Amino acid sequence: MYEKSKQLFERAQKSIPGGVNSPVRAFKSVGGTPLFMQKAKGAYLYDADGNQYIDYIASWGPMILGHAYEPVVKAIQEKALGSTSFGAPTELEIEMAELIISMVPNVDLIRMVSSGTEACMSAIRLARGYTGRNKIIKFEGHYHGHADSFLVKAGSGVATFNIQTVPGVTAGVANDTLTAAYNDLEAVKKIAAEHKREIAAIIVEPVAGNMGCILPQPGFHEGLRKLCDEEGIIFIFDEVMTGFRLAPGGAQEHLGIKADLVTYGKVIGGGMPVGAFGGKKEIMQHIAPLGNVYQAGTLSGNPIAMIAGYTMLTELKNNPSIYKELEEKTIYLRDGLNEVLKVWGQSYVINQLGSMISVHFSDHPVIDFASAASANNERFKKYFHAMLNRGVYLPPSAFESWFLNNALTKEDLDKTIQATKESLTNI
Ligand SMILES: *Cc1c(COP(=O)(O)O)cnc(C)c1O
Repeated sequence: MYEKSKQLFERAQKSIPGGVNSPVRAFKSVGGTPLFMQKAKGAYLYDADGNQYIDYIASWGPMILGHAYEPVVKAIQEKALGSTSFGAPTELEIEMAELIISMVPNVDLIRMVSSGTEACMSAIRLARGYTGRNKIIKFEGHYHGHADSFLVKAGSGVATFNIQTVPGVTAGVANDTLTAAYNDLEAVKKIAAEHKREIAAIIVEPVAGNMGCILPQPGFHEGLRKLCDEEGIIFIFDEVMTGFRLAPGGAQEHLGIKADLVTYGKVIGGGMPVGAFGGKKEIMQHIAPLGNVYQAGTLSGNPIAMIAGYTMLTELKNNPSIYKELEEKTIYLRDGLNEVLKVWGQSYVINQLGSMISVHFSDHPVIDFASAASANNERFKKYFHAMLNRGVYLPPSAFESWFLNNALTKEDLDKTIQATKESLTNI
């Protein structure tokens, strides 16, 4: 069934570290061979062996309207004819910035980069440059890309592979990253009190998605916002995952919280490598060439990446009902999974918000990294493979959120629920 993928994986390992260009793709924690994809359309992926899968990864978020979404593909094709890069400004970059500013709250100025990692590392540099302080607070199990400062108690692949300390990150850098448990406001207050006037920023995934989907508890973000105001700390919402996914204005809009700086990635590029960071002019004006906090990129604002993102965001802005549809589909899936899981007799937890959802095989609520890590993740591995064999492509780790895309039909969701029902007998 997976013969071609197996052959490709053998071959890939000879020229690419671990056979993959990003660790979470490797299936290392769930075992088996990563599937090599050939094409995708709408909600379906097709691997090298021609197998079809219902996709719940959506390229880790960007494919919110389904794969090969026609307006985006057409726009890329047309744009490419006029050159794929200039290294000089274009009107399209202004249109992109204006479009984003019209959609998201609390952003006066926005700088485009090429990945979520770049967006987050630039945002903390800016926060440090603006405040003149060195330390940041992040949360256990949160992932903000692979820049040195963030690889302390990080989520996503770092959690999946259980990497405690990352060789190559200096102690000096790691010491400037302080960590607290997600949803533990008291712990954050304590750190802030112990490091008065040393903390430049608190960076948070507003709805955590890199340790499964974990929701903010009531009052958590409000408390962080208040603390940041009192202590002169920059409050950074890492919306790489939630931006343009939970609402046109992202988690800021969905949760009604104002951030000082916001980072974007994933959906913002419509499947092309795009990231961005933005915020109030007061802070953003410290970025070069306006200010001295240096940040740059040869391919930043690349025309192909911009037209893909611009077209995608325009669709989302013009059709806000997409968010309602996505949420309804996700709730339908959640309720359907609940129906089959509750008669199974084993413990489980489903966390869901908007079009983000995940299943943890746990007998306690999953509200932070410790509770996510203590779930029965061996069982998740079996579930993952049982689903894959039934044509459902879930993230290959319990430490990842599933992402729904709007090309999914009720029939796809019913198939997924049925596949879960069948899978439960052998996990
Ligand atoms: C994916 C992700 C990043 C990193 O983005 P890349 O484009 O992979 O560098 C940062 N923050 C969050 C919340 C993410 O989910």
